[in-house]
Amino acid sequence: MKKQMYLFFSCIIALSVSCKDQSSTNDVVNGNSPELIDKNDIERIEPPNWWIGFENDKLQLLVKHNNIAEYTPSISYKGVSIEKVNKGDNSNNYLFIDLLISETASAGTFNIKFKNGSGDELIHTYQLKNRLKPAEDFIGFDSSDAVFLITPDRFSNGDPSNDIVEGLKQTSIDRTDGYARHGGDLRGIINNIDYIHDLGYTAVWPTPVLINDMPQGSYHGYAITDYHKVDPRFGTLEEYKELSAKLREKSMMLIMDQVANHCGLEHWWMKDLPFKDWVNNQKNYEDNIENWNWKVTTFSNHRRTTNQDLYASNADRKGNTDGWFVEGMPDLNQRNPFLATYIIQNSIWWIETLELGGIRQDTYPYPDKDFMANWAGSIMKEYPNFSIVGEEWSYNPLLVGYWQTGNNNKDGYESNLKSTMDFPMTKAIKDGINEEESWDKGLVKLYEGLANDFSYANPNDIMIFMGNHDKSRVYTEFGEDAVKTKMALSYMLMLPRIPQIYYGTEILMDDTAIPGDHGLIRTDFPGGWEGDTVNAFTGEGLSIEQKEMQSFMSKLLNYRKNSKAIHDGKTVHFSPFMGTYFLFRTLGNETVVLIINKNDEPITIDLKRYTEIGLDGKTLTNIITGETFDWNDAIDLSVKGPLLLTTKTE
Ligand code: CA
Repeated sequence: MKKQMYLFFSCIIALSVSCKDQSSTNDVVNGNSPELIDKNDIERIEPPNWWIGFENDKLQLLVKHNNIAEYTPSISYKGVSIEKVNKGDNSNNYLFIDLLISETASAGTFNIKFKNGSGDELIHTYQLKNRLKPAEDFIGFDSSDAVFLITPDRFSNGDPSNDIVEGLKQTSIDRTDGYARHGGDLRGIINNIDYIHDLGYTAVWPTPVLINDMPQGSYHGYAITDYHKVDPRFGTLEEYKELSAKLREKSMMLIMDQVANHCGLEHWWMKDLPFKDWVNNQKNYEDNIENWNWKVTTFSNHRRTTNQDLYASNADRKGNTDGWFVEGMPDLNQRNPFLATYIIQNSIWWIETLELGGIRQDTYPYPDKDFMANWAGSIMKEYPNFSIVGEEWSYNPLLVGYWQTGNNNKDGYESNLKSTMDFPMTKAIKDGINEEESWDKGLVKLYEGLANDFSYANPNDIMIFMGNHDKSRVYTEFGEDAVKTKMALSYMLMLPRIPQIYYGTEILMDDTAIPGDHGLIRTDFPGGWEGDTVNAFTGEGLSIEQKEMQSFMSKLLNYRKNSKAIHDGKTVHFSPFMGTYFLFRTLGNETVVLIINKNDEPITIDLKRYTEIGLDGKTLTNIITGETFDWNDAIDLSVKGPLLLTTKTE
């Protein structure tokens, strides 16, 4: 009773200070004496904390400290035991401690004691926390969501005080250089959640914000140098948590961009690798560490089809998985079981810490594919309703399908991966909208591209996108034609898919000066920096065409947000006819119609052909203009572009 009273009051106190650190309450409840807390003799223990109540009751701690391999660890804490202690074969400065965290373990802190033969003792205090919510409440993104992709350095500079952080290897910012840091950060995203929300998005995917302490190119985030640390130029861990929490307040979610394939060359472990096979082509690297340059790097051959190819040579297969992506990104060897466990635990650490709504995994076909299946499977076992999307940059639907769970692959490979990326459909849309109509060109590309869905295990779970941080801007791909851009975006938002759109697409951002140039694709979002003469957040200084597109996107995305027919409805489409293409999505009483019309001259289409949809005699509303249309014998299409109609009346 006394204990319950204490818990009650401490919760009241905790609530008054935002109730976010339940663990401090539990420390006292568990009776840990204060002197046990906060002793950190060890240089590094990762993951830095863990939780009780996972399906997997095992935890492997990476311990990094000078000569730590000469020490023996011990733990005295109810429910936690050391199962095995492992040493690296390449360095005396690591231990890998296998812990068993049984059901009897409570949240709290305990000391790990390390003793060597000379009687020296080191102590590190470790924390097990209570999980913040039940595992099944981590709901991942699905086809009811729309994902806003952001390059954080280029979106909004919410905190100029973190632009330059002394002590890091890159300490300059230069907004005139597309490959330099520009100063955008997590605070900038937090400040503009309302903008993203009002556009109709439900999920935000920022490209990686973990530290890239690299001498150059650190802004893009894909050369991580510490897997548990937020880059201070993007903000703090608390700000990352705040972003996730504020998104959840708006019924939105945070997707984390993770990289299992490679780290940055300046990663802290690169100068003292624990095992001889921690990274691929490691000997080459270690033999040349003093004069490391591109000449001695063994690059990936990028032959990703070797993952599926029945006839692939071992040399090609190894060339794909073991080669380095680029010189500054060492290729991690996920066949080393300690590295594999490290990466899996790291992903779970971030899901739990940030209460994520999903993970986007970079360069999916480059790591060891059995590891990737194990990685995704381990996460989905802990979070059965979670979502992960993997990037396979291929225009071949067979490859996109191969990576999706439930695909019944001939070779028996089960990926455990819910979502893949629809590069094939993205290309079909680009070609189909741009091409002149003929029997095998133009809109038929969309029609036949979507027909490929017969081969996918779950088309609804595949992520479709127009534009990302690596591809040319949508507006540029369509020759700076806003009508074509609208056709493409309307189509992708109507598909049985999870749509993802890159920031700035709504204001027709382009890379037309040098198409495909990464620096230019990732141009600063206007209004994100103090003193910007154009402000897309407020509309100040935008052209009429930009404002019009912003409004179009907002109307369409906000309609989509509540449209069960688009999320989960039946899909029917009709082969292109006289430069038009009709797509219908239906669920219950709601039918949504997309008509893409490529004719420059007015045209009348007989609607008898579409009778099977059951719209005859119904009044439909234009989703963008609010005008009504009576669906009877024919429709006059006087304007080139997309026409979006719904049977919904409100
Ligand atoms: Ca900043």
